Amino acid sequence: MEVLRIEKLTKKYGKGQNEVIAVDDISFSVKKGEFVAIVGPSGSGKSTLLHLLGGVDKPTSGKVFIDGMDIYGLKEKDLSILRRRKVGFVFQAYNLIPVLTAEENILMPLLLDNRKADKQYIDELLTILDLKERRRHLPSELSGGQQQRVSIGRALANKPAIILADEPTGNLDTKNSREVLELLKYSAKKYNQTLLLISHDMNIATMADRVISIVDGKISSESFGGKEV
Ligand code: ADP
Ligand code: ADP
Repeated sequence: MEVLRIEKLTKKYGKGQNEVIAVDDISFSVKKGEFVAIVGPSGSGKSTLLHLLGGVDKPTSGKVFIDGMDIYGLKEKDLSILRRRKVGFVFQAYNLIPVLTAEENILMPLLLDNRKADKQYIDELLTILDLKERRRHLPSELSGGQQQRVSIGRALANKPAIILADEPTGNLDTKNSREVLELLKYSAKKYNQTLLLISHDMNIATMADRVISIVDGKISSESFGGKEV
């Protein structure tokens, strides 16, 4: 089943001489539960693409469908509800709230949405992310890897259909990166969540079901399970 589809998506920044086509007429779709890595050189448009997919930046033209819904056809208020309910973001900078504990940070999206936490699920998340012993610690008391795992927990707390991760392990060493991504991949598969992850690291990208390479805002190649198509 298809969870995400983008059609002829284009994003331009600036005007005249300064115009940059960050995303140039890209189309693809993603199945439920699929893990897609988006790779490409710096400045190729990966982050812009991810922001467009998550409804945080408006395209110049083209459409994004999440669960069949044309998200940029929605009113701003409905788009923000859809974003909160269906999309989880993981960033390179963890963006944790310093005065809240690990667990409180993870529960934040539910609080913002006035929803009760599924206690069993949150406990399970803390276990998967190996944060049980650290749930009452503040971000300043956690290692980089642990902080990134908290930010993953926060992205997963409301069981989003789609997880969007922008260089989530950019600040971690190779060993920690691999571990954090294995956890992200494991939890996404377990809950049949779709994962789109930006990486400049081909070693990381090989963990994905499918790799989309972007150059100059366009798809330059695509491969499934290591086979180019
Ligand atoms: P990547 O994530 O692959 O490094 P980006 O999506 O960040 O690429 O950027 C793609 C292109 O769009 C770059 O040329 C960048 O300079 C430009 N760009 C990104 N964001 C903006 C912005 N807010 N204003 C102007 N240009 C931007
Ligand atoms: P990592 O291998 O993830 O980089 P570290 O070597 O940074 O881990 O940290 C090892 C342990 O020390 C972790 O369990 C972490 O909780 C704890 N720790 C790290 N930084 C601090 C800190 N500023 N205050 C308290 N505990 C910390």
